[in-house]
Amino acid sequence: MRFRIGIVGGSMGGLFAASLLRKAGHDVQVFERSERGLDGRGAGLVGQRELYAILRMLGCEQAARVGVLAHERITFARNGSVAERDVTPQTQISWDHLYRTVRHLLPPAAYRVGARVARVENSPSAATIVLDDGEALRFDLVIGADGVGSIVRSAVSHGPTASTYAGYVAWRGLIDETTLPAEAARVLSERFAFFHMRGSQILGYLVPGPGGETAPGRRRYNWVWYRQAAEGVALDRCLTGSDGRLREFSVARGDMPALLRDELVAAAGDLLPSPFALAVAAEPTPSLQAIFDYESTRMVRDHVALLGDAAFVVRPHTAMGVAKAAGDAMALAAALDRLPLERALFVYEAERLAEGHRIAVYGRELGRPLSA
Ligand SMILES: Cc1cc2nc3c(=O)[nH]c(=O)nc-3n(C[C@H](O)[C@H](O)[C@H](O)COP(=O)(O)OP(=O)(O)OC[C@H]3O[C@@H](n4cnc5c(N)ncnc54)[C@H](O)[C@@H]3O)c2cc1C
Repeated sequence: MRFRIGIVGGSMGGLFAASLLRKAGHDVQVFERSERGLDGRGAGLVGQRELYAILRMLGCEQAARVGVLAHERITFARNGSVAERDVTPQTQISWDHLYRTVRHLLPPAAYRVGARVARVENSPSAATIVLDDGEALRFDLVIGADGVGSIVRSAVSHGPTASTYAGYVAWRGLIDETTLPAEAARVLSERFAFFHMRGSQILGYLVPGPGGETAPGRRRYNWVWYRQAAEGVALDRCLTGSDGRLREFSVARGDMPALLRDELVAAAGDLLPSPFALAVAAEPTPSLQAIFDYESTRMVRDHVALLGDAAFVVRPHTAMGVAKAAGDAMALAAALDRLPLERALFVYEAERLAEGHRIAVYGRELGRPLSA
């Protein structure tokens, strides 16, 4: 049977589901709140089995080949010397290239940007997406792929639907590799580098350029500095944008007040080994993402299903967010392919609930030393 399917959220989870379900013959419509889509806003991701599997199914395996290889992992000592070295080559695939490739599988009319969903009404006969401007559209199935702040959760769960703060934030930098001072580039380039402190960790690696460029000189250096921020005044300060207003989960590039960025650079000079301190100082417009947890007890109800981060928020240390979203999308599409809707949703939940829980627990375990 072919269904009319509405998907809330057009990041990787929503896109994977949309392209697989469209390929299977369903009538699919994605609603993405950002005005121009997400192009140019990602960095790198680690390839995993589910990612390769879904790209193969979609006929675009080549997207996983656009990446930058780090030859080894190094861990710095405080004085900037290399304390540990581990020859584990790892490729950082371009998030932007992947996003662009999968988005192009959909006709433009199937991917509505600037479409913020206000709520989803679920009933035993259908589900309705209500947009911010009041437009209401009825579907056989609505998929919530709307991430950490999911509003679709409340159409599925009768329990708590808010993600809970984990006690720390990720400050992020993404700079042209040519802007990395030579002294830092010499040690950081083509390596996956770490530095651990009590309650804090920084890591960094090269990723492709915004257009998927992988040639030396055209790539970007990505660093992520996890630091504790107590809930309340400290967290609110981190999440305040340049207009003085509080953001919910993250502060985008260019939106961080200059004072906060300057304080970050000063802290980097005080606390980090010199290569990382230089990399932080080289970023004029850092971004920030507060780290949250959420675990669903239900992934489906009536005519609504959750997938990706809407169902289980996966901490970034697992590097499994995209792979888990791909796994969810494949399981949902396979179940819809062979079963009536109600039964398919039951089977989907039975397959993916335990897996989501397992990855969420793993992420919390990895993040335990960072939680306040
Ligand atoms: C801009 C961006 C860049 C990223 N870059 C990387 C990266 O470099 N490396 C990596 O490993 N992971 C990255 N991620 C995370 C990774 O893509 C996710 O882990 C993975 O996509 C699974 O999450 P998701 O698709 O379920 O949710 P998310 O990726 O969080 O996407 C949720 C989407 O829903 C949209 N949305 C939310 N609420 C509404 C609403 N009410 N109405 C309409 N739309 C809504 C959001 O705008 C967003 O596009 C990035 C995510 C984003 C959004």
